[in-house]
Amino acid sequence: MKSLRIGNVEVLPLLDTALLMNPRQFLPEHADQFLAEYGHEADSRGLLPMAVTCFLLRSAGKTLLVDTGLGGRRRPGFPQGRLDQSLAEAGVDPADVETVLNTHLHIDHVGWNTVEDEAGKSRVFFPKARFVIQQREWEHWMRPQFLDEPGNAHLVQCVVPLEREGRVDLVSGEQPVDEHITFIATPGHTPGHVAIGVASAGERAVIIGDASHHPVQLAHPDWSPAFDSDPVQSAQTRDRLFEMAIAEERIWIAGHWAHPGVGRIVRLEGKRFFQAR
Ligand SMILES: [Zn+2]
Repeated sequence: MKSLRIGNVEVLPLLDTALLMNPRQFLPEHADQFLAEYGHEADSRGLLPMAVTCFLLRSAGKTLLVDTGLGGRRRPGFPQGRLDQSLAEAGVDPADVETVLNTHLHIDHVGWNTVEDEAGKSRVFFPKARFVIQQREWEHWMRPQFLDEPGNAHLVQCVVPLEREGRVDLVSGEQPVDEHITFIATPGHTPGHVAIGVASAGERAVIIGDASHHPVQLAHPDWSPAFDSDPVQSAQTRDRLFEMAIAEERIWIAGHWAHPGVGRIVRLEGKRFFQAR
């Protein structure tokens, strides 16, 4: 997809990888109803399209990247990301990225923060970038007992090296990033999860992080997947963000919805719908 403009901010969706989602694993309690509503989009195995999309922003003379996908490491159970190729195809050198915003610290949002050299040593993939991370998120995930768990190896590989190199800026809550970009507190998926708000020259957008994983949640905001750390809070946050997007006419930019995940949330006859761009 080509870039889109939000006032004076350019947003470029960059695919890390397409994903196929099995509703019976994703939302086992609601899978039958899910497939009744979205079966027309499923493949012959009943799998639905999702994505891991990252977003390059050009704002106020700087280049920023929102989330860094799954990364280039081979990991059992995960596809290998190809954000490096998507950046190259867009003519972006990793050294061009000055700021990385990680919406949260899950494995599919910090992957390309670092890459491994031949000796298996991690190095920061964006040699000049600073990484802006929410304090609340940091305090939750970067506890020593968490870092020791095998399921959190991605934190050791993709986040600890940033700290070692002094590249991390911790911020709290709804801080502005620049004159057009601000964090929007959207807790529930993880404790310190944030969306990224863009407002410039009368136009607005919201890059939602993992506040929603699929448009089925427009009608069922309470359908929280098991990996939401607080499913009640994430449902409230999701509903509030849908309503904010409608009320403020924000372009909706969703990294896990089918690529590129860009459009508008509208209400027609009392129901919310996604109009893909
Ligand atoms: Zn995610």
